[in-house]
Amino acid sequence: MSTPAPGGPAAPDYADDARAVAPVICYPNETLPQPDLPLYSRARAAARKTGEEIVPPREGRCIPVRAGQFLRISCPEGPQVGDLNLWNLADLSERFYSGKTRALHGTHLTVGSRMWSSFPHLRPMATVTADSLAWYGVDAYGGRVHDVIGTRCDPYTHHQLSGQDYHHCCHSNLTRALAGWTGQGGEAAEPLVHDVLNVFMCTGFTADTGQYFMKATPARQGDYIELFAEIDLLAGLSACPGGDCGAEHSSDVAQCHPLLCEVFAPPNAALEGWESPPVNGYSGGHGL
Ligand SMILES: [Zn+2]
Repeated sequence: MSTPAPGGPAAPDYADDARAVAPVICYPNETLPQPDLPLYSRARAAARKTGEEIVPPREGRCIPVRAGQFLRISCPEGPQVGDLNLWNLADLSERFYSGKTRALHGTHLTVGSRMWSSFPHLRPMATVTADSLAWYGVDAYGGRVHDVIGTRCDPYTHHQLSGQDYHHCCHSNLTRALAGWTGQGGEAAEPLVHDVLNVFMCTGFTADTGQYFMKATPARQGDYIELFAEIDLLAGLSACPGGDCGAEHSSDVAQCHPLLCEVFAPPNAALEGWESPPVNGYSGGHGL
């Protein structure tokens, strides 16, 4: 609980009763269409590798992943945090919606969680199908792995805090990667970069002040997370300048490693029974 500001209002006589009210889940997600994980598992077992991309330290790369394919992100050399963006390959305005994903699945993602797209599309873009760090759970500090709370490290916040310019924050890495992919330059690419899935990052909120914290990722060489592409995707991944994010980011101080993206395609027969989700069914009238 945070400390009340000096001079703030006195607690009312019902304060203890108010604090004692049990919470309710905002979005009970049992009513969402559930992913058919056994189907994904069978499809993954039958899949063959069709592409890969190495993301160098403090850089970003884009890689297309077709609907029905799997994207595997791993640490080929050592602990490394990645900042992941997803776009609809055919329409980059449909992109990963970190905030709504957090509201639906919680602050951190693992097997069975889905990555939802922005309004007005709001549909699953990808489903987490494997996570070698699922054993981590929650630690004594409230830390968990693979968060959807941390936005991305960016040069604007860094400048605000330090007065320094730094060009290899994840925001800039993703901007350069997307600009290189589209060929449209940084001005067109930057507004398409969005809040991320912080792959391998170990984060939480402090119990006393509620501040966002990070600690060194438990990832080691060979750790991985896998996503099933529910629609045609362009994935953008930055190898964060924070490395394992155990000390600081937005600098060249931390030891960094590359990240490996691999794409695996199952045969069509292995996907029988699965359908790419349509865009959201809301009529779009807004009462107008
Ligand atoms: Zn970063």
